[in-house]
Amino acid sequence: MGTADASSKAMEFSLAEKKPKVIFVLGGPGSGKGTQCANIVQHFGYTHFSAGDLLRAERDSGSENGNMIQNMMNEGKIVPSEVTIKLLEKAMLESGNDKFLIDGFPRNEENRAAFEAVTKIEPEFVLFFRCTEEEMERRILKRNQGRDDDNIETIRKRFKVFLESSLPVIEYYKAKGRVREIDASKSVEEVFEAVKVIFTPKAEEVKKCCVIL
Ligand code: ADP
Ligand code: AMP
Repeated sequence: MGTADASSKAMEFSLAEKKPKVIFVLGGPGSGKGTQCANIVQHFGYTHFSAGDLLRAERDSGSENGNMIQNMMNEGKIVPSEVTIKLLEKAMLESGNDKFLIDGFPRNEENRAAFEAVTKIEPEFVLFFRCTEEEMERRILKRNQGRDDDNIETIRKRFKVFLESSLPVIEYYKAKGRVREIDASKSVEEVFEAVKVIFTPKAEEVKKCCVIL
């Protein structure tokens, strides 16, 4: 216990010291976060971590948290912060990069506060993909990645969790002027055009393509 605590603290200390640049990527399930993060990685040299992917890998690794993660995912519920934050910290430290896209996190107010308290990192901004539920539902049902939670019953639960728990996080950062919102219901190419402008900022172009909130 003491050793695990000590190694956690060491991880937090060395991550905070590196002062990495972190961008949170948020949007409902199926809004296209993963798709656009892959484009951003290719063009702008960020490392991308999806909280959902890290949790799925942890579940599949035979870890003691595996069953708990599986049960939470099946219900579309938010896995406890301490689990997700440890996975994110470890992934960031091991990557060797200092620019990160963190996708699907923070999912709720508690995630947000815990991440800032533990890592002492504040995001540069939050990239928010706004999309209608009809479009997200259509996309997820076509996604075809064999995910257990991509069924209509769990999708509806995930929409509800997004509205009730994740939108307040976006509101929190909006109040700080840190949200860059994009209309994600357009085509992949059109969405990426808007994303590119945000990552190569020229004040006037940013005003044209997205709403700074
Ligand atoms: P998220 O990471 O937000 O859950 P994904 O990036 O996995 O979303 O996208 C969900 C599905 O929708 C994928 O099958 C993806 O190929 C598709 N998709 C992503 N962006 C668009 C878009 N702009 N238009 C149409 N389909 C899209
Ligand atoms: P995603 O891959 O982002 O669609 O996430 C799939 C599922 O993983 C969610 O419905 C949650 O059960 C879980 N999950 C994803 N991100 C988080 C997070 N930040 N905190 C807790 N649970 C998460």
